[in-house]
Amino acid sequence: CGIVGYIGPRQAYPIIITGLKRQEYRGYDSTGIAIMNPHLTVYKKKGKVAELENTLLGENLKSNIGIGHTRWATHGEPSDRNAHPHLSASGKLAMIHNGIIENYAQLKTELLNKGYTFKSDTDTEVLLNFIEEIKTNTQCSLEEAVRIALKRVSGAYVILLLDEENPDTIVAARKGSPLVIGIGKGEHFLGSDATPMLEYTKEVVYVNDYEVAIIKADELILKNLGNERQTPYITKLDMEL
Ligand code: GLU
Repeated sequence: CGIVGYIGPRQAYPIIITGLKRQEYRGYDSTGIAIMNPHLTVYKKKGKVAELENTLLGENLKSNIGIGHTRWATHGEPSDRNAHPHLSASGKLAMIHNGIIENYAQLKTELLNKGYTFKSDTDTEVLLNFIEEIKTNTQCSLEEAVRIALKRVSGAYVILLLDEENPDTIVAARKGSPLVIGIGKGEHFLGSDATPMLEYTKEVVYVNDYEVAIIKADELILKNLGNERQTPYITKLDMEL
């Protein structure tokens, strides 16, 4: 039950794998990553981070943006297909999630009635396709679709999304599950705690409940669900590796 993300000039993959290992103490049953190489690519698996790493030996994992997840199953058994990241119906969005979407059954019924099919048993894939449905229907940006979707969601979450059509942006949001953003020089780090970013920066932002973060290498925008800009409050970490 941890999330990691990176965007900037460095290679995302090693930062994500190391960050996931540092967050292993939080407990988990499955793990996975999404990168842009150059297209949105997902690798995920039941088991330990080290096992995923072993299966990826020799793969070309070059990417300057990526997200990674450790899952503690709540909806759907621990398995490869229920592991995160999940891909949206179109395959253009990838999302990781820690927490529980309490009203997922109702949202799933709405989506099934619209013809959506699901590749996993998770509440996460329901929220992801709900976001995609809003984005497609209203022709809005991903961050706007996320804000609209989250107004209809009850539960606890931290979510991170990658969008094939916007390969230089991570969109993130939280309510009730932790999200830390590390501020580097022309780069940003994300974690459930600050351990994935300790050797790179001591400046972090603890994202508040009901905030959406739009994160590029050299820009961090925080908004509330009402689309009002929030000032990121930077904290100095007093923590060593
Ligand atoms: N509810 C989601 C699932 O079961 C996320 C679980 C978690 O927090 O890792 O896949």
